Amino acid sequence: MFKAFKYRIYPSNPQKELITKHIGSSRFVYNLALETKNAAYISAKHNYSAFDLIKQLPELKKELTWLKEVNSQSLQQSIQNMDIAFKKFFKGAGFPKFKSKRDRQSFSIPQNVLVENNLLIIPKFKEGIKISLHRPTEGIIKSATISVTPTGKYFVSILCDTNTEIPTKAPITENTTIGIDLGIENFAITSEGEVFENPKYLRKAQSKLKYVQRKYSKNKGKRTKQRLALLHEKVVNKRKDFLHKLSSKLISENQTIALETLAVKNMVKNHNLAQAISDVSWSTFVTMLEYKADWYGKNILRIGQFAPSSKTCSCGVINKDLKLSDREWTCKSCGTTHDRDILAACNIKSFALKNIFSGEHTLKNQDELPRLRGVLTPEAQPIGSAVGG
Ligand SMILES: [Zn+2]
Repeated sequence: MFKAFKYRIYPSNPQKELITKHIGSSRFVYNLALETKNAAYISAKHNYSAFDLIKQLPELKKELTWLKEVNSQSLQQSIQNMDIAFKKFFKGAGFPKFKSKRDRQSFSIPQNVLVENNLLIIPKFKEGIKISLHRPTEGIIKSATISVTPTGKYFVSILCDTNTEIPTKAPITENTTIGIDLGIENFAITSEGEVFENPKYLRKAQSKLKYVQRKYSKNKGKRTKQRLALLHEKVVNKRKDFLHKLSSKLISENQTIALETLAVKNMVKNHNLAQAISDVSWSTFVTMLEYKADWYGKNILRIGQFAPSSKTCSCGVINKDLKLSDREWTCKSCGTTHDRDILAACNIKSFALKNIFSGEHTLKNQDELPRLRGVLTPEAQPIGSAVGG
């Protein structure tokens, strides 16, 4: 199993300069490879492989001698990364974009990574970069990525093969499954009625961030910029910390977690929701749940994003008149009163289990497509309107 370990590193000034060169050259080669691949396709319908483009690096270096200062494997990896972006594009992701100085500042070291005596040793940095090892790596080191934050902090993420088998998944049973509804008012609500609010300290930090952002848009001062970067980093770290703690808690307490597939792309178009969605970072949270589930042999089940999770009564009747503002509703057929969010969490659980037990297992990687199949609606109902919520 592969696992990443992230550490802060403390490069000397000359090392910082060399890191900057690596990041710049990696970005340059990435963009050049992307442009070349596009041009070859447009002019000659030729599809360059990563290998074809990597073979052209030596002749490029003859012309641009400054590229020789950096680890050639990092440049090769840059081309591989561009190729991966294309493969994702063919699977439905967006068209690969050119990298700019505003993107994450990083470069890859695909091999020859060593950690020794509190030093990170990589090609072109033979004397080693000081590393703060708050915990040891596990297994065999495969590769590393060095990144710089906008506040000037340096990190390395080291990918290791832990030599451990991926644990077998726990069996899926009703009693050990929990449904989770992710929301804006509250971060998450479970089918057991447990509510996880968005933490207040995070809201506070965010409103402060907005204030400084406004200030910066008026006067583009250097000090305000630095303050903004620091605040931003703080908010991101706090948010990540909250998401880590909550995902670990849910994974350790449950065998199976059922979730609704999020339509974040569609929702961000709605401006009122956009801020709230980026604040709560649902997609980061779901990613954390997924990889932690793999580590600990737990299951993640997904239901389609159009399943009517908040409007289906346990008796099977669908309340088609339910508005987004209705927090509670009473079923006209059986008289049960529902809390919208808890009902949604319960239905996410039961729809997901229904998929499993009817053999319609929604694999976590096949979840992007909405399904119009009847399995998502209770049997008692004909297939109703496709608009859920
Ligand atoms: Zn009912």
